[in-house]
Order: sequence, then structure tokens, then C-alpha cells
Amino acid sequence: MSNIPYKTYLEESEMPKQWYNVRADMKNKPAPLLNPGTLKPMTAEELSVVFCDELVQQELNDTDAYIDIPEEIREFYKMYRPSPLVRAYCLEKALGTPAKIYYKFEGNNTSGSHKLNSAIAQAYYAKKQGLKGVTTETGAGQWGTALSMACAYFGLDCKVFMVKVSYEQKPFRREVMRTYGASVTPSPSETTNVGRKILAEHPGTTGSLGCAISEAVEVAVGSEGYRYVLGSVLNQVLLHQSVIGLECKAAFDKIGVKPDMIIGCAGGGSNLGGLIAPFMGEKLRGEADYRIIAVEPASCPSFTRGRYAYDFCDTGMVCPLAKMYTLGSGFIPSPNHAGGLRYHGMSSTLSQLYDDKLMEARSVEQTSVFEAAQFFARTEGILPAPESSHAIRAAMDEAIKCKETGEEKTILFGLTGTGYFDMVAYQKFNDGEMTDYIPTDEDLAKGFAGLPKV
Ligand SMILES: *Cc1c(COP(=O)(O)O)cnc(C)c1O
Repeated sequence: MSNIPYKTYLEESEMPKQWYNVRADMKNKPAPLLNPGTLKPMTAEELSVVFCDELVQQELNDTDAYIDIPEEIREFYKMYRPSPLVRAYCLEKALGTPAKIYYKFEGNNTSGSHKLNSAIAQAYYAKKQGLKGVTTETGAGQWGTALSMACAYFGLDCKVFMVKVSYEQKPFRREVMRTYGASVTPSPSETTNVGRKILAEHPGTTGSLGCAISEAVEVAVGSEGYRYVLGSVLNQVLLHQSVIGLECKAAFDKIGVKPDMIIGCAGGGSNLGGLIAPFMGEKLRGEADYRIIAVEPASCPSFTRGRYAYDFCDTGMVCPLAKMYTLGSGFIPSPNHAGGLRYHGMSSTLSQLYDDKLMEARSVEQTSVFEAAQFFARTEGILPAPESSHAIRAAMDEAIKCKETGEEKTILFGLTGTGYFDMVAYQKFNDGEMTDYIPTDEDLAKGFAGLPKV
């Protein structure tokens, strides 16, 4: 066996003190958010009605490559970071592959995913601005849980609109949020104008992230001392998540390893954007090359079958327009079990990088994802989140290809979280009742028909 340890940790003193902003090194910058009324780029002033002031600055900052992580946030990070970079020796052995597989494990905190990295930053800036609280949406519940923890830490009120299907399927996540002091409302709800409108148009809908965003924004804008926060998609969230990639890069440097391939699941793009950030930076500056692969569900294929166009970020069309790979804000995906990957669009930063052919994307079907999840649980011991298992599937597929070709590639993938709250999905899989839903071209055409004409 080689002298590479199973786990590589950084010392606390080696943890990143700055986030890395990949936009600074992009030749083609991500397209700006547009005001849906005027179709002009959103100004800081307009954005600050909805978002916290410092987060608006981060959102619009395409020039500073490094942004200091405030001391208070670094202190919080130390409670659960650095996260381990793990060499998947057991998985390699079980696959009989010559590939070297590493994963960065972000599930080692109570919220169970990488989302806490941005939640604590966003709560910090809200507190610093003297706000009373924040509103947000949550799909599967990971973001709402992370934000509830972060708000409890800083003594902020937290109002969460939870996609109805998850609210019903995942009562335990809901109760975790309430334990941390958040209020949780199933979306669409009767408590907002936009919720009532969506319910009238689609009675019995199980909801979507797009609906929940509209409700959360409406409440933030209408409540004194509140702002809206978002757990993915936005540039600022990718910035905060760069802590994942920066730690990875530092850990790899420590053991003298360079990955050939970096794989991550992509919902709104924040974990992948964060994981690849410093590596993409090297690629953009011409210092190194990496193959980068985004993995998405076949049921919600924004990159692989979406359009690169300006679109609404939410169903109620109250948010700015973002240029992104999208299925259309009216697209409501089938209720598959990777709730965190059900968003209709994709980060505008990753969309631009993908359009510039600096990264690849592929889609995978649900049952093959759970086969990979089960294999991983049985070999590496960690019970992965369904979202993360999309990356596991692709990493395993690449490792199996290496077995066929005899290539000793080094593969890094992001293991974004644990799946303890996804046992209904695992139960379906274990009982052989899981299905694969792939939207038809006609299904997608309906979503595209609703794209704004910009
Ligand atoms: C939310 C979530 C994702 C997907 O979100 P991104 O913004 O694309 O990273 C992936 N994995 C887990 C565990 C999540 O909670």
C-alpha cells in the first residue's frame, strides 16, 4: 500500500483565510442579473432591497480574486472544518480499478451537507447589518437546516418555506429546523400572494424550489428588518463554497498529489463551483489542466438538455433574471429523490464556464445513482445523500473505465452530504420500487415556452 493516508486533514492554522472568487480569472464573465422590468443590469441599490448589503457587494464583485473570510466565520468553520480529504482505498479495491479515488467529505456537521459553509457566512452578514432575521426556501431541507443552525448561532429569526413534497416526506428535517428555532411553512402556501396564485393555477401541486423562492422573497421584501438568503445558484454562494476547493488543494499539495479529474453533483452549482474553484482558477490562468465533470439527474437535466438563456430564478417571477442553463422557471420536475438537484436552472458562473467548454456535464438515472450509493455505503461505510451519489456514480463509472484501459487516473469527487434523512428513498430502492423518470422533449418544450423574451 502507498504511503498516502486514508484521510488528509489540514491543521487549523492551514485553513483558508480568504475565499477565492473564480470570476476574477474568467475572461468571459458570467452575465449580470437583469431587472425583469427594465432589462437593465440590477444595481446594488436594487439588489439590497432583497439581499444583505455585503452579500450584494460579493454578488457583483467580478474583479477581486480573494476576499477575506471574517474572523467570526473562521471561528465557526473551526467547529466542523477542515473537512477530510479521503482516499477511497476500499472503494478502489472493491472496483478492482487502478484509478486513485479521493473524496472531500462535507457531511460531517449536524445539517449533514456543505450548505453550512455559506449559511454561516450569510447569517453573519445579516447580523452585521443589524437585521432581525432572514427568509429562505428549502427543497430537501439541507439548506433550511444549515441556515437554522447558522441563525441560532447569531440569534437571528429564520423563516423557511419548504417545498411541500419534502415537508411531507421529511418530517424529521422539518423538526431539526424547528429545534434550531426556525419557523417552517410548506410551499406553496396560503400565507403569500404568490403562493395563493400558484395554488389556484396548479391545485394539488407538490411544489418546487422556484415556488418556494417566490414566497420567501415576498415575505422578506414585505417585512421590516428581513432579507432573503439563497443556498445555491448565486455567485456569493459559490464564493463561500470555495472553502471546499481551497482546503482540497492545500491537502493535495501536502501529500504531493494532483487530480486529473474533478467530479461533483450539480443542483444549483454551489458545491461543484466551490470544489473546482481553485483548480478552475489554475485552468483559466493556463497553469494546469483538469477534466471537470458536473453530474445532474436525468429527471432535471439543466446542463445536458437545457437552454443557455435569461430566465426567471423563481416560478412567481419576482426575482431578477439570470442567464443560465435552464429548463424554464415553469418546469416542475418529477418528484425524484434527490431534492437538492431539482432546481430548473444553474449557477450563471458555472453556466458560462460550461458554455466556454471549460467543463463537461452528464446526466444519470435515479436507480443507477442508488446502486452507486449502496455500493459506496457498503465499501466506504458512509451513507451518502442521494444528491452526492450522483457524483459517486460518475466517479465509479470513470474508475471502471480506468480498469478497462489500465490508466491510473486520479479522481476527486465531492461527497456533499449524508443521507440519514433520505431513508424513504432508500426504502423505495431497497424494495425495488424506484423508477427512472426522464422528461420527454415535449415536457421540456413546455418549460422553454415560458422563457422570457430578452
Ligand atoms: C443542496 C445539495 C446539493 C446540491 O446543491 P448545489 O448548490 O448544486 O451544490 C448537493 N448535495 C447535497 C447534500 C445538498 O444538500
